[in-house]
Amino acid sequence: MKNNRIQYCIANWKMCMTNSDGIEFANQFKGKQFKSDHAKVVLCPSYTSLYSISNILEKTPYCSGAQDVYFENSGAYTGKISIDMLKDIDVEYCILGHSERRHIFGESNDVIQSKINAIKISSIIPILCIGETQEERESELTKKVLEQQLSSAFLNIDLPHEQKVVIAYEPVWAIGTGKVATLEMVSETHILVRNILEKIGFNANAISILYGGSVNPNNAKELAEIKDVDGFLIGGASLNVDSFSEILDKL
Ligand code: PEP
Repeated sequence: MKNNRIQYCIANWKMCMTNSDGIEFANQFKGKQFKSDHAKVVLCPSYTSLYSISNILEKTPYCSGAQDVYFENSGAYTGKISIDMLKDIDVEYCILGHSERRHIFGESNDVIQSKINAIKISSIIPILCIGETQEERESELTKKVLEQQLSSAFLNIDLPHEQKVVIAYEPVWAIGTGKVATLEMVSETHILVRNILEKIGFNANAISILYGGSVNPNNAKELAEIKDVDGFLIGGASLNVDSFSEILDKL
């Protein structure tokens, strides 16, 4: 375990892969041998495959995760999924605030805060995504944006008791674009994120901070070597068992 923190290799399949594709992936993946078991693997399929994937991963070291959840527990919220529904099928993780949710679906920091607030009393571990746009980076607003995203997400969290959270730093301009942040940028920004978490009241050294943004088998090793990088949240390269497995082997 690097720096005494859990290392993660998380697959975000987004709106890709049917239930049959997901079942095939999970069955193939769970039969593979890896060089080490250093990292915790979480597969986040679409809702329609979550139940199947969660069943396939039962009694394996691997976990399932949702890509989002709603903050209300039940009721007239057409199209939404609740935390209880996820718990009922043994989902252990949930991505919140992914940049596609923020930028395509207009999810605000306030909505993300409500989700964090709702999930904190459950056993599901949130994977909170944060990150700046290209424009914000160029205008030197990265620090401000990350501070806003983190402080608003955890505004009502009961600290320091509430440690069960994973942070994914994902520069928006690096997601699905093939543009990877430079190693210096990733290193500097992960240190910045850890400092912000400490300021908010977390024991920041205990929190896993993942990098996400065009991670692939060719760049994973050098990114994984950065001191404050505790694994990856992977989109495109997680859709193929071999490329996802190769990345896992670099952690
Ligand atoms: C993501 O979906 O969070 C992501 C990082 O995607 P990609 O790896 O394709 O950039």
